[in-house]
Amino acid sequence: MPKAKRKPIEPVRIRLKKNDLVEVIAGKEKGKTGKILKVLREKNRVLVEKVNLIKRHTRPSPQTGQGGIVEKEAPLHVSNVMLICPKCATATRFRLTVTGEGKKARVCRKCKELIDG
Ligand SMILES: [Zn+2]
Repeated sequence: MPKAKRKPIEPVRIRLKKNDLVEVIAGKEKGKTGKILKVLREKNRVLVEKVNLIKRHTRPSPQTGQGGIVEKEAPLHVSNVMLICPKCATATRFRLTVTGEGKKARVCRKCKELIDG
């Protein structure tokens, strides 16, 4: 049996998806905005374009060519980002609703505008 007990990651309902515009609301990247590149559901994290960059030192390889220092996005916890409403242009809370066509859509709590087209 391994000594170190790893805390199981409890999955949270992630209502964000790829290409959503989000603002970072906590941590050292607070205040930055960017587009979601990837949602890592099993880790409750998202990759946000140009946010939380980490430097990777790489060796020259056939894939990377030259090697050296590469900047890469590190995943952020979903609770540290907030969706930006395209209408209000601010980080906002939203709720889920069902549209006339029976599709799930997100609605801005502030302006009541549908966030998904
Ligand atoms: Zn809004």
